[in-house]
This record gives sequence, C-alpha cells and structure tokens, in this order.
Amino acid sequence: MEAFDTEKDHEFWMRLAIEEARKAEAIGEVPIGAVIVRHGEVIGRGYNLRETTHDATAHAEMIAIREASERIGAWRLLDCTLYVTLEPCPMCAGAIVQGRVPLVVYGTPDPKAGCAGTLMNLLQEPRFNHRTELIEGVLQNECAELLSDFFRGLRVRMKERKALRQAEQAKTEDAAALSSAGSTSNPGKDPDLSDQ
Ligand SMILES: [Zn+2]
Repeated sequence: MEAFDTEKDHEFWMRLAIEEARKAEAIGEVPIGAVIVRHGEVIGRGYNLRETTHDATAHAEMIAIREASERIGAWRLLDCTLYVTLEPCPMCAGAIVQGRVPLVVYGTPDPKAGCAGTLMNLLQEPRFNHRTELIEGVLQNECAELLSDFFRGLRVRMKERKALRQAEQAKTEDAAALSSAGSTSNPGKDPDLSDQ
C-alpha cells in the first residue's frame, strides 16, 4: 500500500467515506459511512441503513465488507484498507477481524460503542488470530460534526414537533370549551325542559 499510505491519501479516502455518511443523513439515518480501498481503488462502500432496513447489522462497515468480498470473490480482504467515519462497534470490529482486513482508518471515536480502542480494542486483541493496524482521528472534526449536526437537527425537529402538538392540543381544548360554552347558552336546546 506504499503509495496510499500518506496522511493526504487517508484524508482523500476518508472524504469518500464522509460522502457515504451524507447519503445516510439524506434519508434520516445516523450519518456513518465507510469505504474499502484496495490498490488505489474503492471496492466496497456502505452507509448506515439500520432504520431503513430494520436491520441491526446494516452498519456502514458491514455493507462495505459484503460489497468488497463480492467484488473480489473472497472473504479475505487482503491488501484492503477500511475507512470509516466512526470508530467500529463490536460487531463491525468482529467482521473486520474475520475478514482479515489489515488496516482500519477511522475518523472519530465512539464513546458508547467504540471497540477499536475506546471501550476495548477488538482489532488488536493479541489472543485473536488476526490483528489489524489502526489509524485514528483522520478528518476527525468533519466526522464528528456530521454526527453532532445530525443529532442537533433531530433535537430541534423533536422540539418543533412537540410545540406543534401542544399548539394543536390547546386549539382543540379551546374549541371544546367554546362549543360547551355555546351549548349551555343555547336557548334552543330542550326548550320544553328548560321551561319547567
Ligand atoms: Zn458497527
């Protein structure tokens, strides 16, 4: 991977992973993207599709790994580098080890599920039969902002929805109050009874 190992090259491929993440964002998925590069060529790409597919395994890395394996007709992803915007979770780290991926480059750490050094390091566990080289923090700010912007937007939308719901509820209550006020002062209602 001689020619593709410089910091600039890592940034170049990470930008493609970010492009994948934006595809997830565009359909309301948490924006995480991945690409797999072999001999200077992208052979697998993926973005998070967990909500769309109702599939807990539809992580960016898993999709990219499947595509890359299909493309080269092998489960061993030798000579491949996996770029992902967020630190891999235990499932994806497991798949990376199973696929014998020699190098993983990730953007930003995941304090809730990161298994490439944050919570544990499944990629470099000495008791496994394969260990992966690891480069972290490539375009970290961009990768982290993708996620923080997404969740900020989500919170704003939830707040707006709540405000809308409350306004609608208030309107319904007003209407109900008005109609009940109208009915008590309605002289035409049950005239016979009210006369007695
Ligand atoms: Zn994962």
